[in-house]
Amino acid sequence: MEPIEGKRIGSVGYTHGVCIYQKDRVRNGTVSYRCTNKNCPGRAVEKDGVLRLIAHNHDGDSKEKEILRLRANLKRKAGESSSSLRDLFDRETQASSVGNRIGFAEVESSMYRQRRCLLPPLPKAAVDAYAAICDAPDRFRCVNSVIIIQGGVSSADDGHGLIFAHPDMLSRLSQATFRTVPNIFWSKGF
Ligand SMILES: [Zn+2]
Repeated sequence: MEPIEGKRIGSVGYTHGVCIYQKDRVRNGTVSYRCTNKNCPGRAVEKDGVLRLIAHNHDGDSKEKEILRLRANLKRKAGESSSSLRDLFDRETQASSVGNRIGFAEVESSMYRQRRCLLPPLPKAAVDAYAAICDAPDRFRCVNSVIIIQGGVSSADDGHGLIFAHPDMLSRLSQATFRTVPNIFWSKGF
């Protein structure tokens, strides 16, 4: 039995061949699974590494497994990428042979939840913001894969700030002559 992410939040399904099962019960080391098709008596019973199957009353749907995989993939990508959920959905479903079997409305909320729960924690104080952004995944400090966070600065009156600048912009700035420089920048040597 191969675990596969289920349709509902946090649910895990199991596949064997083209059929999808849910774990039914575990007793004395025997694990039984039942078919996710409600009107089907199909079962799988696993004991001492041996799997015994009880026949289904329907043909297996090889696409179902692919659909669950695509759903899990959409969710994972929603957490990893910063593209809009709609763009991600379009890209992934167009590349999949079962893309036309899933609607955006079905997966939008689970993609959104995944994205929310992978957001880095908000720092408790402004002084911690720079450390927080350094610990966050790259996409929170990058534009087109270029890191744009240049440092954290503090002022004498306990103000704190972050400096974002594209490296190209910094090299242009370094060739310029300034009439004035805000005090806060002196501490970073710009
Ligand atoms: Zn079945």
